[in-house]
Amino acid sequence: MSPPCIDLHAHSTASDGILEPAALVARASRLGVDLLALTDHDTTGGLEEAEQAARFHGVPLVHGVEISVTWDGTLIHVLGLGITAGEPTLEAGLESLRRRRNGRGEAMAAGLASVGVPDPLAGALRQQTTNILSRTHFARHLVACGFADDVEGAIRDYLVPGKPGHVHVEWASFDEAVGWILAAGGVAVIAHPGRYGLDAERETRMVTDFMAAGGTAIEVVCGRSRSGHAEDYAELARRHDLRASLGSDFHAPSATGVELGRLESLPDDLLPVWAGREWAPQF
Ligand code: AMP
Ligand code: MN
Ligand code: MN
Ligand code: MN
Repeated sequence: MSPPCIDLHAHSTASDGILEPAALVARASRLGVDLLALTDHDTTGGLEEAEQAARFHGVPLVHGVEISVTWDGTLIHVLGLGITAGEPTLEAGLESLRRRRNGRGEAMAAGLASVGVPDPLAGALRQQTTNILSRTHFARHLVACGFADDVEGAIRDYLVPGKPGHVHVEWASFDEAVGWILAAGGVAVIAHPGRYGLDAERETRMVTDFMAAGGTAIEVVCGRSRSGHAEDYAELARRHDLRASLGSDFHAPSATGVELGRLESLPDDLLPVWAGREWAPQF
């Protein structure tokens, strides 16, 4: 028997994904995903539609969210898995982050206009699918008007620190984000730990601060990670006694990019993030 196909990190049009929540679940079903989490940025808005589709297709759905955190000046993404959408503490927190996104959007547009990008705010808003305004929407506008070949290139050349469209925002603290997740009955997970450019000393400090806030898990297996990544992050999980998660961070169908559920398995010796949870896979 092949091992279960589990993917605990994916986006829909509720934030910066390309597929509607129902279409995302239908794709997961077609691809044989046995357990899927929808984890949109700073919103639970896609979960109701996804849950309906999940029942129709018979794909168990973990209700999730990906929260923007600023730790020591660095943007860190914290996943909440197994949350109850609508929980007031969580929803009020996410709402405050969405407001910060809108303020950032205006400042980003001014920066992009200064290097000749036409109509940056209106363009990004045309790419936006719900009430979340993401750098991804600005990136799609940059691609649409020929400033970059793809979203990755647009982000790299225009939207990261040091580039004209980058604007620093203080997002949630670990204490806030993890507190909201725990209040909503979820598990807090550090997403894609390899993407923050932290040296060993800062990485240890980051994990220690995350755990002090009540965080208990880390994404050990990620989509689009360099080879050797999973072994490094398995070792980090062992060192700190963290639970392990796995997720593709799927945003859009593409011929060359990541796909839902196409992930290596978690190392056997690690405690999976779902252990003891009611949403644990039934195999
Ligand atoms: P935001 O949450 O609005 O700051 O947008 C960040 C989004 O851009 C992430 O969720 C990713 O989907 C996408 N992204 C792709 N590459 C990068 C990168 N190198 N740095 C930051 N974000 C990236
Ligand atoms: Mn994203
Ligand atoms: Mn992320
Ligand atoms: Mn993500």
